[in-house]
Parts: sequence; structure tokens; C-alpha cells
Amino acid sequence: MLDRIREWERRTRPADPAFAAALARRWAELPDVVKTPGQVLGRFGVGCEGTHGVFPACDLACTPCYHSRDANRVRVDGAHTRAQVQAQMATLQRLRGPRAHAQLIGGEVTLLPPDDHAESLLIMRRHGREPMSMTHGDVDDDYLDRLVLGPDGHRRLDRVSFAGHFDSLMFGRRGIPRPPDEASLHPYRRRFVERFARLRREHGVRSFLAHNMTVTPVNVGEVADVVREVGAMGFGMLSFQPAAFVGDDRRWREEYRAGDVSADAVWAQIERGAGTRLDHRVFENGDVRCNRTAYGLSVGPRWYPVLDGDDSRDLRVRDEVFRRLSGIGLAATPRPLLAVKLARLVARHPCVLSVALGWAARTVRRVGLRPLLRHGVRPLTFVMHRFMDAADVAPAWELTQQGVLSDDPRLRETQERLAACHYAMAHPETGTLVPACVQHSLLDPKENAELTVLLPMPTARRRNGTR
Ligand code: SF4
Repeated sequence: MLDRIREWERRTRPADPAFAAALARRWAELPDVVKTPGQVLGRFGVGCEGTHGVFPACDLACTPCYHSRDANRVRVDGAHTRAQVQAQMATLQRLRGPRAHAQLIGGEVTLLPPDDHAESLLIMRRHGREPMSMTHGDVDDDYLDRLVLGPDGHRRLDRVSFAGHFDSLMFGRRGIPRPPDEASLHPYRRRFVERFARLRREHGVRSFLAHNMTVTPVNVGEVADVVREVGAMGFGMLSFQPAAFVGDDRRWREEYRAGDVSADAVWAQIERGAGTRLDHRVFENGDVRCNRTAYGLSVGPRWYPVLDGDDSRDLRVRDEVFRRLSGIGLAATPRPLLAVKLARLVARHPCVLSVALGWAARTVRRVGLRPLLRHGVRPLTFVMHRFMDAADVAPAWELTQQGVLSDDPRLRETQERLAACHYAMAHPETGTLVPACVQHSLLDPKENAELTVLLPMPTARRRNGTR
């Protein structure tokens, strides 16, 4: 009995000691240039993670495409996927600590048989990872049913996270193989969201949905409209990726570094669509030259930041969150357990309650009671993630491996960004982590060439049971 009480006491401690230690390690490893007041890494999270080489093939064609030339010559093989996901997650757990968000990514995830897809997600959860499946969104209800329900018809996944990639630079989508513009994809985006609403209705499966869009000079002028239209569809995150020269060079079509697709220009388009300034310094995820993030609340047609960077009281809320809620792991902790942890936190630090109530009162005042009651509130996060060009990453990584810091401003910036990388991929064979930029720029080509031998294509590739 005494042992059970001790175990309960340990489990309901506000901060998980292993996660707190992982955060401290992460902070210590960050370069000074990103140790800003708003830095999330090392204070609240350890960053995002992704798989590689687990199912490289895709059945759409994008311009640009970050997959290497050989990706589509590798057979999708569920046993390989499960074994690799297991090995990579074990390495991430050992090096990055007990919990993080991780993307099941590589090629197109829905080419995996649903059983292998589901088992991969469960493996990730068993390693403390909250998984997100990355898809081009051309998926059927039947596939999703077979994903969340086991062969016996019982629910095996209570919640799923999907990122749907939709943009007019992708070719081969059923019903619209060559989209003339972004607006023509809105019905497909809406249908994607509706499929998950149906999963909730019919099977009680909750979901979190992100929308990804690559941005080039061709579609940058449509970003604001996408933000306005897609922001109202039910996605919880809208993420924009200015194109980079990485991956399959046969798919590089345009100049991606022109002024109208610079970080500031794309962010300005997102702001135009959101109808307000988006302060990306309140919370930072790694280096702001890689990532910009604005967390907020959608209330009817308007968007409000969760914290106002111009209000010192809100910045105090942020600092209190970092100080008091660090190590709790809000997202991955089951709700009843989280409630007990928070109750214990408030009992120990009653000031947390007054800070939280002050923030809630200010937020209601900003938004207005009537809009709140009329529309309700929905979290909506804006993200911009800028991969780097392979031509910069290769020499920068080489210098980093040698312990040399370049004097060349461009290479120096690349090295700094790699050192503060928010998005890691694991190599179980060497027991190391690499930035996703390094994976895609340097390691994917060799890895995929080897996989073409290990997993050669059958003469004709078939989509697994969904078409
Ligand atoms: S280094 Fe590359 S992968 Fe890492 S956060 Fe920056 S752009 Fe993303």
C-alpha cells in the first residue's frame, strides 16, 4: 500500500524529473544566439522530431520535392517501416528524453498499409512521442477507418494528428491533377477536414490537423487568401514552407530566393491573411531564421495572439509558464493526470492561479464577451519553416563536424541555424541526431540509394488497398 502511495505521489509530481533533465540538457546545448527570453527549446520542449528512410516513396509529384531522386524507387514495406521507426524512436528517447512531438514522415504515409501505419504510431507513443502523420491529403475514409480501427473493428487509436500538404505546386492529386491555383484546392482541403470530423462522429476519434503549404514566387501572392479561407476550415495549425533548393534537383523550377519569398515577405502575407500583426518573438522555436511561430485563438473571423508581446503582463505570463510549467509535458499527459499535476502545482505556488486568472480576464476583454459567446474559441497557430539550400548546408555541416566556425556570413548563419535546429532526425546506427536539413541535403541520397537495393520495387507499384 505504501509503495502504491509513493508511486502515485511520484507520478503526479508537477514536473517529470526525467523530462526536466532533458530540458536542462537541451538548454545547455543551445548556442547563445538563440537563448532569448522567448526561447521554447530547453524551457518548455525539446523540439520536433521526424523519421527518415522509413517509407521514402510518394505517389504525387511536387515542384520542388525534398525527397531525393531515388525515393520513388524504394518499395513501401511495412516490416521495414516498423523496425526503423522502433530503432529511431529508441534513439530519440535516449538522446532527447522521455517526450516530444515527432512526425511520421518520409514519403507518403498513406501508402503504408493501415495496420503498419497504426503500429508505427503506437510504437512512437510507446517511446513517449506524440506522433503526427504527414500526408499529401489524398486519402479515403476507408483508409482512415482501417487506420483507427483494428482488424477486429475495435478502436485502436483514440486520437490522431495529421498534417495535410496542399498546394498548387503538387501534381497528380485525384480529381485535380494540375491545380490552376490555390483557391481550386479549397474543396479538397475542406473535404480533408471533414473526413476527420466524421472519424470523431462515427468512431469517437479525436484529431489535430495541420495544413502545410510550400511557397514559391508562383503562389506567394495567394498565401493571404489561403490563410483567410483555410484558417476557418478547422485546422489547428497553418504552416508555410518557403521553398529551398534541396532534394530532387529535377524538380527545381524557379528562383526561390527572390525578394517576394523572403522570410519577411512570406510572413507579411500570412499577417495579411490573419488580419493582424503576428509577433513571432513572444515564443521562439530554435532560430527565428528557421522558424517563426505565432500561437493564437481564432474567434469567428478574427485571430488573437494567446499572449500580446506588447503587454508586459502577458510577457510575465510567458515567463511564469517557463518557470512553473516546465517539465510537466502538457500535451502528452493524460487529462486526469494533468489535472492532478496542475492542482499540486497551484497548491505549491498559489501565484500561478492569480497569473492565470489575470491572463484569462485580459483575454476576454480583448476578444469581447459577445464574440466569445457567439463564435466560441479555437486554437490556431501560424508557422513558417524555412529549410536551407543543400549547397549551403553541405559545407556548413562539414565545418561544424571539424569544429570550425566559418567567417563567411552565409555559412556562419547556416552553422548557427543547424546548431539550434528545432527538427531532429535519429541515426540508430551511429547513436546520433542530425538536423533535418542535413538529412535531406546530405544523407537522404545515399540512404535511399541503399534502400533501392534492400527494398527494390516490384514491376508495378500499387497503392495499398486504398485505390
Ligand atoms: S536547421 Fe533546417 S531542419 Fe533545422 S530548424 Fe533550421 S531549417 Fe529546420
